[in-house]
Amino acid sequence: MTTHDDGLFAAMAGRGVSRRDFLKFSSAMALALALPATFAPRIAAAVTAAPRLPLVWLRGLGCGGDGEAFLRSAKPTTAELLLDLLSVDYAAALMAPSGTAAVRSLADAIARGGYIAVVEGAVPTGDGGVACAVGGRAFGDVAREVCARALATIAVGSCAFDGGVAAASGGSTRATGVAGLVPAGRLVSLPGCPVNSENLAATVVHYLTFKQMPITDGRNRPLFAYGGLVHNQCERRAHFEFGEFVVSWGDEAAQKGWCLYKMGCKGPETYASCPTTQYAQGTSWPVRAGHGCISCTMPGFWDAASPFYSRLPSPLPFAPTVSADQVGQLLVGGVAGATTVHGVASYVRVRRTGAAERRAAARRGQESGSLRPEPARLADGLPAVSRAASAGEPPAPVTEAANEASGEPG
Ligand code: SF4
Repeated sequence: MTTHDDGLFAAMAGRGVSRRDFLKFSSAMALALALPATFAPRIAAAVTAAPRLPLVWLRGLGCGGDGEAFLRSAKPTTAELLLDLLSVDYAAALMAPSGTAAVRSLADAIARGGYIAVVEGAVPTGDGGVACAVGGRAFGDVAREVCARALATIAVGSCAFDGGVAAASGGSTRATGVAGLVPAGRLVSLPGCPVNSENLAATVVHYLTFKQMPITDGRNRPLFAYGGLVHNQCERRAHFEFGEFVVSWGDEAAQKGWCLYKMGCKGPETYASCPTTQYAQGTSWPVRAGHGCISCTMPGFWDAASPFYSRLPSPLPFAPTVSADQVGQLLVGGVAGATTVHGVASYVRVRRTGAAERRAAARRGQESGSLRPEPARLADGLPAVSRAASAGEPPAPVTEAANEASGEPG
């Protein structure tokens, strides 16, 4: 254990976090970052040795659910560990100061710079951004200033990603995400409603460990969390393959945990790590709880994925005219077809083997002057030695004729 460990663990011990808990956290972070488990010690060493980065957490137009998700994870909380790793300079929902004192704290943090900015909530742009203000200023103006001085900005939740519910059709605030306010190359977006706090912790841990933000896709979403389809990682996928679907809430199929595609699940078109990372300390996620994915990590999901309980036109993006019923029928039909082909091939082989056996027996009978009894039909498909054993005979010596009958090379 390093001296850095001692210092950090003194702080952690004060929060009731043990060395074992911290190592479990490091392993979980390696897993969340899609790294081999062997990276856990490196992560633990890097994180404990890293200086505590300042953090500025801004809250814009939204329900506050992302901050709640972050703070309400189970013990030892991701939040506890993360707050030990970071020095919170400003977070309206967490800090003791309020009013002008809080605004002064924010101004001081901006002046110092060199912090990680976490932005939660959308940026209203209609009517001069009057729908959300911080210290009497439009939230967009404050966010632009904060993000310009940040080492990196992490947009948490769907609202900070692209406006979320406030940007849905019918809205009057002309809300957007923060992408337009952040200097190029310094934004990581973690959409979701709410954000998965494990992914937030993993993003910070990646920065502390590798001194850079994780690789992202074209929408600034890190590939470790948004590189795979929900559908491909889903625990109900086998039921999809075999055409086993829930068709009404609470039906027998729902109780058996069958696929929710026909109830509107958008998993086949959604990129997220929910099935593997899960929520509530890895205990569950929407599909496990019995509700289909609503695609909340995808752009404009309130409009694009609505109505949430209508099935997607096709579960196969490469074959848009194929329906879920056809997938099940095709796959089940394919399995049945393969089974039939295999059965026919086996039957032909058995028949040919039996004929060869009878010809060999006839030859042996002609040689010995007597015909051997027909072997039992159930034993027809077995190798020559096993057939003889099943008929109560001692194993016959392996002869050229027996090799011919069994189809094996002599
Ligand atoms: S459609 Fe939804 S419930 Fe069914 S396998 Fe795909 S993600 Fe899972």
